[in-house]
Amino acid sequence: MTTQIVYSEKFSKHNHWSHPENAERLHVMINEIKKNPLLLKEIEFVEPKPVSEETLLSIHSQEMISKIKEISSRGGGWLDPDTYVCKDSYEIAKLAAGGLLQLSESILSNEADNGFALIRPPGHHATKNRSMGFCLFNNIAIAAGELSKKGKKVLIFDHDVHHGNGTQNIFYSKKNVLYQSIHLYPHYPFTGKTEEIGEKNGKGYTINAPLSHGNGNHAVSQLLEDIFLPIAQQFKPDIILFSAGFDSHHSDTLGGLRLTADFFGELINRFQEIQPKIICTLEGGYNLRWIGKCLISQISKMTNNKIEFEDYAQEKNTAQIIINKLKQELQGYWRL
Ligand SMILES: [Zn+2]
Repeated sequence: MTTQIVYSEKFSKHNHWSHPENAERLHVMINEIKKNPLLLKEIEFVEPKPVSEETLLSIHSQEMISKIKEISSRGGGWLDPDTYVCKDSYEIAKLAAGGLLQLSESILSNEADNGFALIRPPGHHATKNRSMGFCLFNNIAIAAGELSKKGKKVLIFDHDVHHGNGTQNIFYSKKNVLYQSIHLYPHYPFTGKTEEIGEKNGKGYTINAPLSHGNGNHAVSQLLEDIFLPIAQQFKPDIILFSAGFDSHHSDTLGGLRLTADFFGELINRFQEIQPKIICTLEGGYNLRWIGKCLISQISKMTNNKIEFEDYAQEKNTAQIIINKLKQELQGYWRL
């Protein structure tokens, strides 16, 4: 078994000291990996290469790309009140997208079995035409787009506490990329209702589970069992990409769901039964005390190691209401 981790010190060049999405996030995660010699033996670190502008253009508009480039070249600025650009952000955002793309190619060609892209800035809020929500380019959409050009069926499972509106937007009318998301609702960016199921050829290929405040492991397990895994099984993906946001952990300051650290690894376990070629890419996660542990939980499952954390969260479970709605919306597309 080989697990690749894409990482570069260069990601810390995209940084704003007072912003929750700052360089410290990756530092604590790398330090957490270093504390686990057992894992270190089985991990191969890979230095990312930037994505080409041509590949960016297959997902994003020229205006959007030029805007980031232009703000970077004049030393930085803000795209909206949430989303900063620094002097090096254009290059670093290309490096992030390129890193995930590289990883997806090496998993597809069996060079490695699975992997984690420890990249920043995150991507899942970036739509075709707009950077937003701390995200510049949509890393996961760029990788999924390239994989689907090769005729591969891609399943994206997004467990960030925020809905991946950008990823949904980019693949809304496509059926070779299946988008599945659990998220807190109502919450930023206020999309991701059960009735958003795709359009045209992509109808039935977007699946949203908007959970209310306080839902945790049990609610998500039930959704996996009744909705996400049966659909994944019928879809038969060639590769699975996780939008790995750890802000759905119960301690997160920007969150409101109640997942525990071990549960992030459990998610890997469950999807491995469908398709072992799994790649995680970092999205959100802002509690510096816990994000490293959530990461270790996923990497330990990827490398077949048993590492558990003492972590408990009180939770509620209102999944049944969502499951009933989704069954209604999706009948005719999937056997549920
Ligand atoms: Zn998030």
